[in-house]
Amino acid sequence: MNAAASFHGRLFGTGIAGAGASARAWWEGSTLAVQAGHTIYRTDSASLQIEAAGFNLHQTRLSWKTVDGNYTFFVEAQDDRAKLVSGAPAPLRAAFAEAAGSQRKMGRRFGAAFLFYGAVISLPLLLLIAFLFNLGRLADWAAEKIPARHEARIGDLVLAQTRAQMKLIESGPVHEAVQSIGARLTTGSQYRYRWFIADRKEINAFAAPGGVIVVYSGLIAQTANAEELAGVIAHEVAHVEQRHSLKNLMKTAGFSILLSLAIGDWSGTALGSVAGKLTELKFSRDAETDADREGLRRLFDAGIAPHHMADFFGELARKENSMAPAILATHPASAERQERLRSLIAALPHRQYAPLPYEWKQIKRSLSSQAAGRQPLVAN
Ligand SMILES: [Zn+2]
Repeated sequence: MNAAASFHGRLFGTGIAGAGASARAWWEGSTLAVQAGHTIYRTDSASLQIEAAGFNLHQTRLSWKTVDGNYTFFVEAQDDRAKLVSGAPAPLRAAFAEAAGSQRKMGRRFGAAFLFYGAVISLPLLLLIAFLFNLGRLADWAAEKIPARHEARIGDLVLAQTRAQMKLIESGPVHEAVQSIGARLTTGSQYRYRWFIADRKEINAFAAPGGVIVVYSGLIAQTANAEELAGVIAHEVAHVEQRHSLKNLMKTAGFSILLSLAIGDWSGTALGSVAGKLTELKFSRDAETDADREGLRRLFDAGIAPHHMADFFGELARKENSMAPAILATHPASAERQERLRSLIAALPHRQYAPLPYEWKQIKRSLSSQAAGRQPLVAN
């Protein structure tokens, strides 16, 4: 390996902590070698998927699958990207050229604006201004500037707090269903999603920044079929993709979290104090509407029948008085919302939806036996 030809990036994947690991990579002929810590991951260039990624498409994303799991390697700095491309085997050049093309197009659109903000106003200062003046829209803009890898770190903190508060089920048929439905709904996402079932009776679900999705077993018990669960997952995924959770945390946490994010302090004291509040944070009506719309689009694209989403939220709204599902505190449901969902669904192009391949009642039963501890489950 020629040290001068190696390039740096961040590696995510099986066996690597959620925030990813800093990694060095190089080409060995047609093989890509990525070293994180003492481990070297090698993959043949033929199995690499190459895309422009990240906000403003300023990253190059390489992803591949192995028998051990899926891996994603983000290369961000310009000279690292140049080395990645110059050492690449010839058959990959077209893929790189295509990624570079979309980056250039995006760059032309936003380059001037970012040059200005980058040179004149530093990000920390901008963030401070946003909160000093409580300018929600500026805070939203600032949230867009937080790199996905930092979001993953916030997700880790939320996850650690969640684990301390409740038992998380991370195996078994229902978890497999959540994971597989989730994968269909997040194809091509820049986030590395992690799926969890909380062993809790409340009817609830929440999304943490960076792609941590937690669905309560109490909610799953209320679903009549896998499509209803898919509707909830699609909605939560939309909150992640649109960075609603991140924006919410930033607005609630205000100054301290902002300062931590701005100066890159990941000790977690400031962040930790607010991360635990995530389950209680209420989204704005606009954010909910956006998440419904984006969730429906994802269901449609994934070929999962979307009308069950409206059915389920409608059913919950009817239970509002008797059961007060916790999910309604953070995701307000109403007749108006269900109506809006129905008209959005009616506006979708016609297509056939194959039913999701689950014996739902049977699968749900496996969850209650897992919760009772009759099957092994992973907690903490
Ligand atoms: Zn919501």
